[in-house]
Amino acid sequence: MAVIELKNITRCYQVGGDELKVLKGITLTIEEGEFVAIMGPSGSGKSTLMQIMGLLDRPTAGEYRLLGLDVSRLSDDQGAILRSQTIGFIFQMFNLLARTSALDNVVLPMIYSGAANRQERALDVLKEVGLADRIHHRPNELSGGQQQRVAVARSLVNHPKIIFADEPTGNLASDQAEEILNQLKLLNRGGITIIMVTHEPDIAAHAKRVIRIKDGQIVADEKNDASADGRGIAVQTAVRQRSELKVNLTHPELSLAEFKEFSASALRALGANKVRSALSMLGILIGVGAVIAMLAVGKGAQKAIEQRIASLGSNLVVLFPGSTSMGGVHGGAGSYSRFTLEDVKAISKISHVSRAEGNVQGSGQVVYKDKNWSTQVTGATPLYAPMHSAQPYYGRFFTDDENLHLDRVVLIGQSLINNLYAKNENPVGTTVKINHINFQVIGILPIKGSTGFRDQDDLTIIPLRTAMKRVLGKVYVDNIYTEADAPESINQVMADVQRLMRRRHHLPDYKDDDFTLRNMADIQATLAGTTQTFTLLLGIVATISLLVGGIGIMNIMLVSVSERTREIGLRKAVGAARRAILSQFLIESAVLSTMGGVIGILLGITVSLGLSTFAGWAAVVTPQSVMLAFLFSVSVGVIFGFWPARKASLLSPIEALRYE
Ligand code: ADP
Ligand code: MG
Repeated sequence: MAVIELKNITRCYQVGGDELKVLKGITLTIEEGEFVAIMGPSGSGKSTLMQIMGLLDRPTAGEYRLLGLDVSRLSDDQGAILRSQTIGFIFQMFNLLARTSALDNVVLPMIYSGAANRQERALDVLKEVGLADRIHHRPNELSGGQQQRVAVARSLVNHPKIIFADEPTGNLASDQAEEILNQLKLLNRGGITIIMVTHEPDIAAHAKRVIRIKDGQIVADEKNDASADGRGIAVQTAVRQRSELKVNLTHPELSLAEFKEFSASALRALGANKVRSALSMLGILIGVGAVIAMLAVGKGAQKAIEQRIASLGSNLVVLFPGSTSMGGVHGGAGSYSRFTLEDVKAISKISHVSRAEGNVQGSGQVVYKDKNWSTQVTGATPLYAPMHSAQPYYGRFFTDDENLHLDRVVLIGQSLINNLYAKNENPVGTTVKINHINFQVIGILPIKGSTGFRDQDDLTIIPLRTAMKRVLGKVYVDNIYTEADAPESINQVMADVQRLMRRRHHLPDYKDDDFTLRNMADIQATLAGTTQTFTLLLGIVATISLLVGGIGIMNIMLVSVSERTREIGLRKAVGAARRAILSQFLIESAVLSTMGGVIGILLGITVSLGLSTFAGWAAVVTPQSVMLAFLFSVSVGVIFGFWPARKASLLSPIEALRYE
């Protein structure tokens, strides 16, 4: 049976607009079990012919049947599969993967073909070529002859039907060359068809058939009777092999073994260029670190604001005089823009209102011993404490009775204590003067901190009636706080309060409200708006830094692809499909960006911790932001690595192998 049938094969190259005919109509048949030497002067087209026969290259014209299969119809990937299952290559330059052990070099073709028991098989063939004691050596730790024997072992692992050898002894000393030739003869006796390119007559003398090429044409084709040994065995194996010839040309899935090999080779490649890899990671690293830290600070700030707002009391609706359309000018005397205690009573009867409370505010001069302090005086009922989360943390709040009797009792905030009292003095029980009237301090208000525009601890609270009648001289309340029974009923309560107040103020339909209603949700929404702007800004910073990081990675991957063109060619020659090369380089860039991302995440967390420990900023690293940063860095690697990886996968194997 013919393993190779060539009919009128031509191959032309376009060189500077001219057409260079390298093969000028080659017609040739090679039977199973033959040992053929292709001879000819340098540049006559021997390698070109061999690469076409080995499916590394396509002819410009002509017919080619490999093992009876018309290969012109095969796609590149189908060619790769057929190659990995039936053909082994041995090159003049050995073409072993650097920094990779002999064993792993031999395992490689089996990873692409998806063979089982790879380690055992690789050990077997390495033993066959006499390298059992060198399996963990890397190519640079082996002699030329040993390297070529590793290459022979590599060509054998997938049980090829044909072995192509392009000047296999060209770089070897004569004794080592002899050894390789003996190996090839042995393999031929085992039934494998050998096609060897050489320009040395004494090497060709080992073959059973010698084909001479000159200027792209066959000029002689002779049987070499002197070496016609072992023919009988070859024929026997040929018969056995013919029945075995079933080639499955479907794409194997990306296997775990491939994934492992690619990840290992990615780490090897990155490790070989440590400084370069580290520098190209830097962009991603800094970007991710900055994003993590900024998100943490932003989240911390947002939490702090939320806490402050919650401390003001949630579910609250505030009613204050004057409409917003009046530009914030509160109604003067004679207008209806004022509230009475009857209004408070009426509002507290609305459904879904759990309680309502009127306040007056004014300024007061507080004097204790020889110190004085200007602050805000709020007159309130005992409901103030639960509604504004203002239960005193020391002392007590005043009672309804005390309010009714216009008692002179006061609760003071932390800022007053800081400014009026000595360090270890207990304010509760002392007497202070507020606007020249004596008050007894009965409690200390909880610390609320600052909302940014106002110190919320700079206040005093006295009973409402005391404030109205004795201190501030007011007849009306300044604002009314209404508490809804649930967050869901806030809107309804607001509508009801609005309707009620319009009726009580006898406002006709054509007149605008003379009061304003606000709820805490409004205030929260305003702050949420600020946070959103902040998040958007962060998003832009993140996008830019990841873009810069991604371009850095793309750049280094392009360099890596062109540096490793020969490696890519070799991987294709031993059976890697496009998809495999694409996956390899994608994994490599993803490893690069993920490593950058992970280090960046650690950096970001460290910075956030540092900010909250040493600068006192509230910084909260959420698992979501870490997850997000991780996913982002992986996808940056995949997205920016895609173009270089695709470029690598589209390299033609021979161009890659010829690349210098
Ligand atoms: P050899 O017989 O020495 O192995 P080759 O088959 O390698 O010769 O090359 C045959 C001819 O084809 C040479 O003259 C070479 O310059 C030319 N050649 C090979 N590859 C290319 C290419 N990619 N573009 C143009 N010319 C090429
Ligand atoms: Mg050549």
